[in-house]
Amino acid sequence: MSNDLCDRAWIEIDLDAVRENFETVRRAVDRRAAIIAMVKADAYGLGATRIARALEPLDPWGYGVATAAEGVELRDAGITRPILVVAPLPPPCVGDAARHALTASISDLEGLDRWAAAAEQVPGGLDFHVEIDTGMGRCGFDWRESARWGDAVRARCGPALRWTGVFTHFHGADARDDAATRTQWDRFQDALAQLPVSKEDLMVHAANSAAVFRHPSYAADAVRPGIFLYGGDPAPALRPGTIPRPRPVVAVRARLVLVRDVPPGSTVGYGAVYVSRSWERWGTLAIGYGDGFRREFGPTGAVLVRGRRAPIIGRISMDLTVVDLTGAPEVRVGDAATLIGRDGAAEITLEEVAGRGGTINYEVLTGLGPRLPRVERAAATES
Ligand SMILES: *Cc1c(COP(=O)(O)O)cnc(C)c1O
Repeated sequence: MSNDLCDRAWIEIDLDAVRENFETVRRAVDRRAAIIAMVKADAYGLGATRIARALEPLDPWGYGVATAAEGVELRDAGITRPILVVAPLPPPCVGDAARHALTASISDLEGLDRWAAAAEQVPGGLDFHVEIDTGMGRCGFDWRESARWGDAVRARCGPALRWTGVFTHFHGADARDDAATRTQWDRFQDALAQLPVSKEDLMVHAANSAAVFRHPSYAADAVRPGIFLYGGDPAPALRPGTIPRPRPVVAVRARLVLVRDVPPGSTVGYGAVYVSRSWERWGTLAIGYGDGFRREFGPTGAVLVRGRRAPIIGRISMDLTVVDLTGAPEVRVGDAATLIGRDGAAEITLEEVAGRGGTINYEVLTGLGPRLPRVERAAATES
């Protein structure tokens, strides 16, 4: 692909694949549920405005963010659909969230009081959803006490302060054993039954990506997919084939900036932990941990060059990574190597890279740094 942004190292984003993954979610819930596209953390590093604009024609109910600033970014980009902030708002952020007509999620009465005060100041009033903690433990009202707080929440509502939704969040929808998710769902139902308002008047939602596919019956009024939209497997621990694979969205590529043949006994990288045992061909890639390609992704890892695997050797540096190209005489300086994604028939998945780093695909994606330009890939450039 020839593009000024693709001079050193970059991320290719396939927006058609994002849209296809969105439609896969919609089919899984049988079109019964609305879709809240989770675009928090800059759409998992891919660009929240870019992703929201790509999804607008598919008519999501709205978007989910984690901070007021993320919601403001979408409003500034012209997004007028509901934007739900799924984390409690720090008190200094409440005014900004209110002025941009975001929808707060409320976890306690103090937070509701702050939102109510802000609602008095904005002409159209404000909406909020209540979060119920059924075991995630980080936010939400206690599921066991919904009769108590339910009355207090309702008492604060009025024309300017509208209670429009209620949700919970699963902690283990990706786990092989789904008992915990079933328990959380039952707690959620118990709590809903005790509320002083009818479920019919609230938008009820619970499912993240993993739950969409494993528990489509928990779709309720809306679902909140994130990782699946961006090509991540929501439940890598499950037997392959248990849930649909998303279409890959992301490719991370970097140029070869140097190719050399080195004699036996040559060392590479900080600590010189790798030593050549024979004549080898080494290639230097213009990417490193300063781009979010973490040192842990190196030791057992590889990249794709001209459709073949080339092992990463030595420690990954801040700006450079060295690979072993022995046996690839056709490789040239300027070739693009693939660190994540497809090259011909070969593929390095997000999950493979996450496994090398002892982490999860979410963290690989959100860790990709701002130094990597994000490039929207046209469908035709599959090479
Ligand atoms: C991040 C998040 C989601 C999306 O989760 P995925 O596993 O990425 O689908 C849904 N709901 C809440 C509250 C979240 O924080």
